[in-house]
Amino acid sequence: MARTYCSVCERAIQICLCEHIQQQTAAVPTLVLRHTDETRHAKGSAILAARSLSNIRLLTGQLFAEPLCRYALAQFNARSPVLLYAPHSYAEHQEESWLPSLLAGSKQDQRLPFGCDSVIALDGTWRNTRELMLKNTWLHKLPVLGLMGFKSEYVLRKQKPNGVSTIEALDIIYRFLNKEFSTEKFLSSFRAMQAAQIAKMGDEIFLRHYAKR
Ligand SMILES: [Zn+2]
Repeated sequence: MARTYCSVCERAIQICLCEHIQQQTAAVPTLVLRHTDETRHAKGSAILAARSLSNIRLLTGQLFAEPLCRYALAQFNARSPVLLYAPHSYAEHQEESWLPSLLAGSKQDQRLPFGCDSVIALDGTWRNTRELMLKNTWLHKLPVLGLMGFKSEYVLRKQKPNGVSTIEALDIIYRFLNKEFSTEKFLSSFRAMQAAQIAKMGDEIFLRHYAKR
């Protein structure tokens, strides 16, 4: 029998995460460009991010036309996106010092660098996001924000070196932009997903394979 999926959280109906989704509004709007391969992963986090915010759009594909993406952001009155992307080899304008300096303990809400008013995030494996960069060259024009040195709490999926999942990366940014932003709410469905996966595999397997990572 074919598996039925929840149309909201995209999980199998038996493990629907919708009851854990709590929506809020982030300080800046976001557009997530999700690689098509990512839709096959029951572990993907972008869809949970998309369901947990009121000012986010999620597009799935491999080729994303610039006018379409700009139009999606314009729906939130945003015109100058910063690209969230780890390797720094593409863009002319890069900001590497932004987040570490914030980590030093500012108590105030921050702004995005370069006068940007929104975020474009790429969702997929390292290979997938690299492919998106190669296929969508207009992204190279955007200023880039890299998140390095953060540790993922998502142990079940191998992350890029120093990498965090899409939803965690967004959470870091939103928290810096707005001290009131609730990680508790935003990551609630993501944490529930991980807890369910660990429960399913059993403590023994989890401890053997993942706990030391
Ligand atoms: Zn659901």
